[in-house]
Amino acid sequence: ARGITKVYHMGEVDVHALRGVDLDLYSGEFVVLLGPSGSGKSTLLNILGGLDSPSEGTITYRDKKLTSFDDAELTSYRRDHVGFVFQFYNLIPSLTARENVALITEISRNPMDPVEALKMVNLHERIDHFPAQMSGGEQQRVAIARAVAKRPAVLLCDEPTGALDVETGILVLDAIQRINEDLGTTTAVITHNAVIADMADRVIHLSGGHITGIEQNSTKKAAHELTW
Ligand code: ATP
Ligand code: MG
Repeated sequence: ARGITKVYHMGEVDVHALRGVDLDLYSGEFVVLLGPSGSGKSTLLNILGGLDSPSEGTITYRDKKLTSFDDAELTSYRRDHVGFVFQFYNLIPSLTARENVALITEISRNPMDPVEALKMVNLHERIDHFPAQMSGGEQQRVAIARAVAKRPAVLLCDEPTGALDVETGILVLDAIQRINEDLGTTTAVITHNAVIADMADRVIHLSGGHITGIEQNSTKKAAHELTW
């Protein structure tokens, strides 16, 4: 990302969500984006994932600018290359865990078997459960399985533990961490929780639409080692 700005025009008022962000994400790394509410974290993640476009600046993916992608390339970028996980799981209530994942693998270029994806997040005993029959943490792990079953190069997670208690959150973070390690998926996780930042290779601090600091983390921890 180079020189990313995002301005929302709200009637008479301009809201500057991002004010010139430069950021490199390296293949296979695990970064955490940390910053107060309104600092621009979600806006940046959405722009990185091609869900939103910047007012100014460029995103380059594998040596090609997103702005130069044609429609098919942009669709493929969003659909095949980037996986998203949000705070709320957005599962389809009338479909089982396996069917929720299959919905995505059916339209993916190089998918895993949905059951394999559910095994990766330790849900092999829940494949035929409906969302209402699962806990919040289990539902979030289905959402993670759904995001990774297409084998994305990049996994973008916006407060994946925001709706969960600490212990359940650790299971979810553990699943994300194992995917990063086992599949080499480049991973960016937004959180408000500084403890979660201990899992990262690098911690990126945002404030007021600026990157205010980037730390290399030499004492990276496993999710289950985090202490609140
Ligand atoms: P939080 O931790 O609360 O999720 P955040 O760091 O993710 O915050 P963003 O959602 O990126 O923050 O929002 C950054 C700024 O942009 C905020 O001031 C917000 O009000 C504004 N903003 C975000 N989306 C829109 C939108 N669609 N229209 C207008 N303003 C917006
Ligand atoms: Mg946000």
